[in-house]
Amino acid sequence: MSAGLNLAQLRAIHYTDGACLVLAGAGSGKTRVITHKIAHMIERGLEPGRIAAITFTNKAAAEMRERARGLIGRRAKEVLVCTFHALGVRMLRADGARLGLKPQFSILDADDVTGILKDAAGGTTDLATARQWQWTISQWKNMGLNAGQALARAADDGERSIATLMARYEERLTAYQSVDFDDLIGLPLRLLRDFAELRAKWQAALGHVLVDEYQDTNGTQYELLRLLVGERGHFTAVGDDDQSIYGWRGATLDNLKKLPIDFPQLKVIQLEQNYRSTNAILRAANHVIAPNPKLFAKTLFSELGEGEPVRVVVADNQEHEAERAVARIQSLRAASNPPPDWKGFAILYRANHLAKPFEKALRKASIPYKVSGGTSFFDRAEIKDLCAWFRLWLNNDDDPAFLRSITAPRRGIGHTTLAALGAFATQHRQSLFGALFNGMLPAAVPQRALDGLHAFGRYINELEHNARHTHGAGQSLAFLHQWLKDIGYEQHLYDSEDSEQRAAARWSNVLEFCDWMAQRAGGQIDEQTGATGPDQPGKSLLAVSQTIALLSTISGHEKEQDMVTLSTLHAAKGLEWPHVILAGVTEGMLPFKIDDDEGRRQPLGDDMLARLQEERRLMYVGITRAQRTLAVSWSRQRKKGRDMVAAQPSRFIADMELDKNSTREDPRAKLKALRAEFAAKTQAAQATQAAHAAPTA
Ligand code: ATP
Ligand code: MG
Repeated sequence: MSAGLNLAQLRAIHYTDGACLVLAGAGSGKTRVITHKIAHMIERGLEPGRIAAITFTNKAAAEMRERARGLIGRRAKEVLVCTFHALGVRMLRADGARLGLKPQFSILDADDVTGILKDAAGGTTDLATARQWQWTISQWKNMGLNAGQALARAADDGERSIATLMARYEERLTAYQSVDFDDLIGLPLRLLRDFAELRAKWQAALGHVLVDEYQDTNGTQYELLRLLVGERGHFTAVGDDDQSIYGWRGATLDNLKKLPIDFPQLKVIQLEQNYRSTNAILRAANHVIAPNPKLFAKTLFSELGEGEPVRVVVADNQEHEAERAVARIQSLRAASNPPPDWKGFAILYRANHLAKPFEKALRKASIPYKVSGGTSFFDRAEIKDLCAWFRLWLNNDDDPAFLRSITAPRRGIGHTTLAALGAFATQHRQSLFGALFNGMLPAAVPQRALDGLHAFGRYINELEHNARHTHGAGQSLAFLHQWLKDIGYEQHLYDSEDSEQRAAARWSNVLEFCDWMAQRAGGQIDEQTGATGPDQPGKSLLAVSQTIALLSTISGHEKEQDMVTLSTLHAAKGLEWPHVILAGVTEGMLPFKIDDDEGRRQPLGDDMLARLQEERRLMYVGITRAQRTLAVSWSRQRKKGRDMVAAQPSRFIADMELDKNSTREDPRAKLKALRAEFAAKTQAAQATQAAHAAPTA
């Protein structure tokens, strides 16, 4: 059990009696602490079902469960390993009734949300404005504000009108028995806050909660955690303040500062050895992050030797940059025998749209690759269509799902009929589906349309009934294929696509999706995490469709294949590859738009300074993904809209100080001083706490 763990890691693992924070730099084995701590606690007799481990993505959850399984075998699958959002779903399915939610509530995706907002505002709004509203409302929700509170705090007329809109939006969500992404945290929080017995129930159910990537939690997530663990504070949070890169989504480092105050007994453990990268790479990382203010002082050393120097690659334009990246991958493969796997390489960049030239160059060289952090499988229109049907048979009140499924494919029910139904439903305060069988509907729509509507309603009920009684892989697959045949979905794709090739591609996505659902029903795929494994009992198709909505809003499903990874820096968090190319490292891209339009440096206000610091952390995350080799590349020209503009290398390249002599510094000497400084800071924080004596729930 202690194999591959250092003393500090073991201390973190063995301390199970209270709050524990592992605060350490990249690659120091924080995530490893979590997996081993799960195993340790189970070995010591804690029921696996009483352990919750919270990760940042579903993919990370799947990986963690796999690793836990490697350590302790099949009991690992009883551990609840999931994201904050999946935990929220579980809590709402169990206790959402207290807030008036049915257990089969729907989870809306971003498109549904903008659709509802547009509609609530009268329908004439453009998408960009709707997205802006959505963004603002989301920010408010993450601050724990409801529509009334947002209205009271609104700074100007613009905000006031969005707050008013938010009230209407919330009404609709209630009517549709639906929640949005932010509600998956906000509503469980309300459950724990407002109902003492639920708080007691959940606190008793969970013996220990572990949180990875703690630095990227937002305020409501922190509150949820605080209430879940209660005063006893049996939790382990691991994180790195230098890797906080979700400030733009409401994550706040205040959560790190609050911990010693809310949990005075907090044990803080630092890890200083990096097991991931060579010293050449680590040094570049340490230099880049150095200018940022330090919340907790730390530095990293590695025993993996100096390694290859970090390379800077300059290209003429983006196509050239992509060619050079491909050439680098090929030459690194040629240089070793046997050549490293394709999956040992990653090309990372700031924004999704930068992937294009790299994809093209990789295709040209016949190198297998996958794009992660881009448009997910579940964002495709055909998959969304199918999910809308599932949502509707699970939750008849889900109006957005009703509208999508009744028109995919069209079943002879026209806009006029739907508009009449909508008006009728609003008047009678019913959902669209509920209105179908209202005895007064015949007066509102013509007989032929009514027949069509009734047939649709009966069909949905029938599907729900049958899905409930369909179990296991074989039955599920047969059910899905029959259903698609009945509704004529394949034909619908061919009718709506100009090119047969595209229709065929979309149909093959649909079939792939059915296979995947059937596998889930057969128990080969774990519901919570998406991990594959043979040892789960079969499930009903209805139960499987319940979890789809969540997966579809959070992440795609990916099989581990031997492919080069293309990824945004944000999606690369927590991961590692032997060979990394950081691409597009220019001023304006990384850091993103810090200068004025002409590219001149300008004095930075507080806002901009905070942004620059977050960009610097993003660069630090990128550099520290690399294990053995790292290249940082940029091109002299970049696309801006339709034009090509001259680009400058990012200031972060100079900050890496690649020309500095490698042996100049001894990080271990620096460590001693840093440790003393850190101890003093922790003491000071706890003294502040004593002074405030902050109450905990
Ligand atoms: P990040 O901040 O990027 O999330 P991390 O701190 O979570 O990094 P891990 O991913 O847990 O770091 O570990 C980095 C690498 O080092 C992994 O490959 C892990 O298996 C390895 N590792 C961690 N601790 C040890 C150890 N004590 N001995 C050997 N290898 C280790
Ligand atoms: Mg990690």
